[in-house]
Amino acid sequence: MPDVDLVIRDATVVSPDGTRRAHVAVAGGVIVSVGPERPPATETVDAAGLLLLPGGVDTHVHLMDPGSTEREDFPTGTAAAAAAGVTTIVEHSHGQPVRTVADLEAKIDYLRGRSHVDFGLAAHAWPGKADAVAPLWAAGVAFFKVFTCTTHGVAGHDAAALRTHLQSTARVGGVSLMHCEDESLTAAAEEVLRSQGRDDNGILLDWRDRDAELVATAVATLLVRRAAARATIAHVSNPEAAEYVTGERRRGAQLAVESCPQYFLLREDDVHEHGPLRKFTPPARARIDDDEHQMWRLLRAGTLTHISSDHAPSTLEQKRAGDIWNVHFGLPGLDSTFALLLDAAARGHLSYSDVARVYAEAPARAYGMWPRKGSLLPGADADIVLVDPTVRRTLRNDDVLSKAGWTPYDGRAVTGKVVRTYLRGECVAVDGAAVGDHDGRFRPGAGASSAYPSTLTARP
Ligand SMILES: [Zn+2]
Repeated sequence: MPDVDLVIRDATVVSPDGTRRAHVAVAGGVIVSVGPERPPATETVDAAGLLLLPGGVDTHVHLMDPGSTEREDFPTGTAAAAAAGVTTIVEHSHGQPVRTVADLEAKIDYLRGRSHVDFGLAAHAWPGKADAVAPLWAAGVAFFKVFTCTTHGVAGHDAAALRTHLQSTARVGGVSLMHCEDESLTAAAEEVLRSQGRDDNGILLDWRDRDAELVATAVATLLVRRAAARATIAHVSNPEAAEYVTGERRRGAQLAVESCPQYFLLREDDVHEHGPLRKFTPPARARIDDDEHQMWRLLRAGTLTHISSDHAPSTLEQKRAGDIWNVHFGLPGLDSTFALLLDAAARGHLSYSDVARVYAEAPARAYGMWPRKGSLLPGADADIVLVDPTVRRTLRNDDVLSKAGWTPYDGRAVTGKVVRTYLRGECVAVDGAAVGDHDGRFRPGAGASSAYPSTLTARP
């Protein structure tokens, strides 16, 4: 065994396969052993009574940097990530989308020294520009973000553009993250609502209704199968939409299914009271407790394959600067997502192993990062989170590290707290605060020749 830098001893090690008492040894930034052996090490950390999980992998994050840094930037957003227990993110921002290899290279260059955690970068697919897919994939983008409706200034794909894009990704083995809301339905609803002079908070629910999500999901998943492409359906908001994806998966489509805490914990009705602070799309759909329970059941079962934050922050001032039509879509989420999943485990909605699966292993697998990221296997990056599962606390706006400075879960009591986060064996956060330098590295996506060497012993 190489000289060991760090041993975390007597931890309760949590992986998707189960939970066991073990010591974890780290050398040169990678895990070298997980088990009963405890080699001599430069530093030993006693983790008795603590859970040890793989660092969170949040693959749907908008840090607005470069682009709209008055809303967020990489230093603030990744400080929130590290403190929350997230060690890898995949970022894309709509304000300054990556559409060419030159855009990607400029962004990688700009972000050097700005991140507390490792990061991949996604490109934006653009109708009529499918020629950009192959070079961007080879240059190392993590995935292609695709909109079916024009949103945040990014052009929407109709079925023809979507099919062309998916065929282009299939040729190179690329993967897409698809925002599914039907353009014709959202546009028609907007026209009616505006002609009625409506500007009450309730417009959100009529403008971005369930049919719009379902129609786009049905078309997108069908085309993924027919193109033999790979894709993730973004922020699936309700069980019926998840069912459509499951149907196409059964027919052979290579699809992952992402959801977010807001579809488990926030209610459709909240928008009437909170207005712009609940403006995100698709909107929250849960109406009764049973709707929430169904979402947890689908997550446990793997029908919803993974969780992302869809971190898309605005400050309270920015959210209050306009009416429901013109404020930005989106919620801050990096600060709270891991905490809410740990709390869900404490409440029995999930097991801790489920948390490791849905917020580390499954998203890492969806984008070719596993097992180097999202796992505790020997050879993996030593991205590790220590959790005290007994701490009860209250989520507070005051504790938010994101530039947003607030959370929709302000005042919510949760059980479990991330007490330490390690990135490649280095401690990057202690007790809710990021520590150390901006040592996070760009990690090229699966299409790059330099991506995630497959020397690790990967299970199928
Ligand atoms: Zn998003």
